[in-house]
Amino acid sequence: MIRFVASPLLSSFNDTITHAFSTREGGINGSANADLCVGHNKADAATNDDANKQLLAQDLSLAEEQIFSVTQVHGNDILAIAAGDANTNDLAGGSYDGIITNRQKIAVCVKTADCVPILIFAPKQNVIGAIHAGWRSTALNIAGKAIDVAACQFGCNREEILVAIGPAIGACCYEVDDLVLEALAQGYKELSSGGEIEDYLQACFTPSPQIGRWFLDLKAANRWQLSRAGVLACNVDTIERCTSCEADSFFSHRRDREKGRMLNLIMLR
Ligand SMILES: [Zn+2]
Repeated sequence: MIRFVASPLLSSFNDTITHAFSTREGGINGSANADLCVGHNKADAATNDDANKQLLAQDLSLAEEQIFSVTQVHGNDILAIAAGDANTNDLAGGSYDGIITNRQKIAVCVKTADCVPILIFAPKQNVIGAIHAGWRSTALNIAGKAIDVAACQFGCNREEILVAIGPAIGACCYEVDDLVLEALAQGYKELSSGGEIEDYLQACFTPSPQIGRWFLDLKAANRWQLSRAGVLACNVDTIERCTSCEADSFFSHRRDREKGRMLNLIMLR
C-alpha cells in the first residue's frame, strides 16, 4: 500500500519542502472500499474524504488544516499568495487552477483524476506552486503562466525553477477529437509567433485509427509550454505513470467517471 508517490528531483530537497502525489491506495480502514479518495463532491455525505485526508496528512507529518486547496474550474487563473498576505482562510473561495506562494507551512494542493498535476519549486527564492492542467487549462497555457507568475511576482529565475509532473492520463488512453487539437493549436498560436506549431502538435498528438481523433500526450504539451516559459528540460521531472492504465493505483475520470480524485501538494517547511 503506497499512499503517495514522490518526484526524485523534488525529493532531494526534502529538508526544505514536503511534496506528494497521492494514490488511491490505503484509504481509511473499515470503509466500503479502501480507496484513498480525497475529492468527492461535498454534497456526497457518505464519503471518507476528510478521514482520508487526515491519513495522508499523517503520512506526511502535516496537520490537516495546513492543506490548502481552491475551487478548480479548468481555467488558467493562478492564485499568488505572498508571505505577508492575509490568512489563507480569507483567500479560499476563489476559483483557480494554480497556486504559487512563498509562504511557509501551507501545503498548496490541486486535485486530479487524469488531469496533469504539476508541482514547482524554486530553491533559491523558496517559492512553490501547484497547478492543475487538464486539456482546457493546457490550451490556455497554464503551466507557462504559472512560471510567469513565479518569475514576475516572486522574482524566481526561470532557469532555476524545478518542476515535477505527476501521474496523469497518458497518450495510451487519452483519445480526443479535433476540437481538442484545435484548442491546443489555437492556444499555442496565441503564445508564439506561429513558428514551431507543427513540432508542438506532433509532440502532443498521435493520429488515432479513427478519422478525426487523436491520442493526446498532455504531459508533453505541458513540458513544451514550460520550456517556452524558460524552464530547462533538465529541471523537469516527469512521473511517467498513466492514471487510466493503473486502475489499482490511481483514480481516472475517463475510466471511472465520478469515482474520486487524488491530492497533489507541495509545502515549504
Ligand atoms: Zn494509459
